[in-house]
Amino acid sequence: MEVFEECREGEAGLKEDKCPDVIICVPWDGDKVEGSTTGICDKCGREVAVAPSTREIIARCPGVPTRCMLCVHLEVIRAKAEGGING
Ligand SMILES: [Zn+2]
Repeated sequence: MEVFEECREGEAGLKEDKCPDVIICVPWDGDKVEGSTTGICDKCGREVAVAPSTREIIARCPGVPTRCMLCVHLEVIRAKAEGGING
């Protein structure tokens, strides 16, 4: 099953010492992915998959919340509806 997608930082091309505002993860669908663990979305409490590379970011940026893609998308949609984000 190839539904798993590696977790991404909030922004592409982050510098090593920089932390994202939020760490975006894919919802955990129960499939075991080698080397990955689970985290919790800070919005909906859903389990999310945390890849090893993402775990490094979490370890480096302990104050940054992990959030599932669904909640991030909802926020973007809401922000656009309110005119907060152009495009
Ligand atoms: Zn969520």
